Amino acid sequence: MIAIAIHGGAGTLRKSDMTPALERDYKLGLETALDAAYAILKKGGTSLDAVERAVFELENYPMFNAGKGSVFNSQGKHEMDASIMEGTQLRAGAVSGVSNIKNPVVLARAIMEKTEHVFLSGDGALKFAKQEGIAMEEDAYFYNEFRHQQWLEIKDGDSFQLDHSEKKFGTVGAVALCENGQLAAATSTGGMTNKKYGRVGDSPMIGAGTYANNRTCAISCTGHGELFIRSVVAYDISCLMEYKGLTLHEACNIVVYDKLVKIGGEGGLIAIDQGGNIEMPFNSEGMFRGSINSKGERTIMIYK
Ligand code: ASP
Repeated sequence: MIAIAIHGGAGTLRKSDMTPALERDYKLGLETALDAAYAILKKGGTSLDAVERAVFELENYPMFNAGKGSVFNSQGKHEMDASIMEGTQLRAGAVSGVSNIKNPVVLARAIMEKTEHVFLSGDGALKFAKQEGIAMEEDAYFYNEFRHQQWLEIKDGDSFQLDHSEKKFGTVGAVALCENGQLAAATSTGGMTNKKYGRVGDSPMIGAGTYANNRTCAISCTGHGELFIRSVVAYDISCLMEYKGLTLHEACNIVVYDKLVKIGGEGGLIAIDQGGNIEMPFNSEGMFRGSINSKGERTIMIYK
């Protein structure tokens, strides 16, 4: 059985600001990533390869806040976070606060596979990336007029923003189940517009924004990172399944519509279990998302 879900962030444009042309472009980005990753699963590839590929494609698509489309931080730079995890041996790799890395998810995977560590940050991570020959890009590659305008509008204030007009979220992620029953998850983000002080969100934190365990589920989150960290969202869902025997659906509902809401945590997540069940709950106005379930049925959606 194979199945996959991807997301392009829970902070979509408000429905009233969405145009047919924009909607088409966002959906095209989701479709491209979904198809590339699904093709890997169909050929008998691993869920780890599939989630890395989906996130890689979304990082290259400038409309999502990750890789090429990353938002500007308070210094007018791009600082990216990413993580990846596989559910068989619970191996994980994560990176935070890196600039000029073309595909942070590839770096996260290299950290998982080629170091004794799980999490590298900043200059050290960059040094490791260079040593491994991970693809780099100049600042100009990450420049995006729309993102720059977003930043100029708020850069002199103290506020930071998630990725879009009002409540700004944006992140990309994928979860997958492959033929041999293995689960995997990956998440990548540019974080929040105008973020300062080396701020790190939930996306690279194993257990908060990303988690995978064959015994329970694979999860990739998107939303207001601080609240997702405090709620240890991804691991909480896994724990509700493991210790309380809840289904994926029940566990996701409790966390996204009750626990997160109670502390003001806006956002959503994608989740999959070993039965190929997929959940894509969100408590924000929309969440860019797509999936192909175990029957081969496909969805690409933005709003409820
Ligand atoms: N969770 C990400 C962060 O806080 C942002 C997002 O998902 O939109 O960095």
